[in-house]
Amino acid sequence: MDERIVSGENVDQEEVFFETSIRPQLLSEYIGQEKVKHNLQIFIEAAKMREESLDHVLLYGPPGLGKTTLAMVIANEMGTNIRTTSGPAIERPGDLATILTALEPGDVLFIDEIHRLSKAIEEILYPAMEDYCLDIVIGAGPTARSVRLDLPPFTLIGATTRAGQLSAPLRDRFGVVDHLEFYQERELQEIVTRTAGILTTEIDELGALEIARRSRGTPRIANRLLKRVRDFAQVKGNGLVSQEIAEEALTLLRVDPRGLDTIDQKLVKTIIQSFRGGPVGLDTIAASIGEERETIEDMHEPYLLQIGFLQRTPRGRLATDIAYNHFGILNEKGVHK
Ligand code: ADP
Repeated sequence: MDERIVSGENVDQEEVFFETSIRPQLLSEYIGQEKVKHNLQIFIEAAKMREESLDHVLLYGPPGLGKTTLAMVIANEMGTNIRTTSGPAIERPGDLATILTALEPGDVLFIDEIHRLSKAIEEILYPAMEDYCLDIVIGAGPTARSVRLDLPPFTLIGATTRAGQLSAPLRDRFGVVDHLEFYQERELQEIVTRTAGILTTEIDELGALEIARRSRGTPRIANRLLKRVRDFAQVKGNGLVSQEIAEEALTLLRVDPRGLDTIDQKLVKTIIQSFRGGPVGLDTIAASIGEERETIEDMHEPYLLQIGFLQRTPRGRLATDIAYNHFGILNEKGVHK
């Protein structure tokens, strides 16, 4: 089985290509995240009226929730270009200087995984963000001197899955900080229906809802599951993505009715069966199921916390009654399915 089918992370080049073709271009096409959209709409309008660039924006939230898409939508709405890079890709100060000096007035610079920038790079970014200038050192040793270059006004949009890992001075330099939330079922249903339209795949309401339910609140997963179910509908059915076809296909792919994959299931069941429901520390869980602590923290835990299967306590993770019910396991309080 493809273990990563319900991971929010990007899988390969083919998926990148697919995503590019289905990305919403405007705020009006971007589904959900109403509060974030409403605020951005006002900031964008105000900046346009003042003929200024938009304030720097920090977007944070789990992978696949639409941070890159939103950055592109913002550039479109501002009528500017967007340059895209990522924290790990900017290795040397010179890399950042090259990117910054190539910007045109009003451009958006999108830095994905911005929490992975090195300290040295961050320090170059501060004056660039605050005063639109770049301090570069020419030469070395006693003859070294610092030269200040002016940059055009630009908007930095940073994206991160971990706001807590961003240094405070960097975080403070963003005028707009937005947290993207997991999507509601009906929003995901709308996203699936929209994507099916672009792919000219026939789908009915309940088919879209079934995929939405199993998508862990994440558009990237919803679109990926739709693609897999579409193949199944073509081969096993008459091409229509119905609830029955979706259920059958996703069960075969071992995506359970709440969107849990085998690793999520193993994680929760281990807490229940090997640690009497917890509390148990994350490192102990990681060692027991043979996964990295970071993988659990980034990819599995946020959704399990969101749907109330796990609770985070000072003494470790706790499996809730909802989790016991889901797996049909009795606990000492006698809760069962
Ligand atoms: P992130 O940068 O947070 O990892 P992306 O912006 O790359 O996520 O989004 C992943 C995919 O989900 C994209 O293909 C995009 O088309 C789709 N998507 C994300 N958010 C939305 C949304 N609000 N409405 C419609 N589609 C969305």
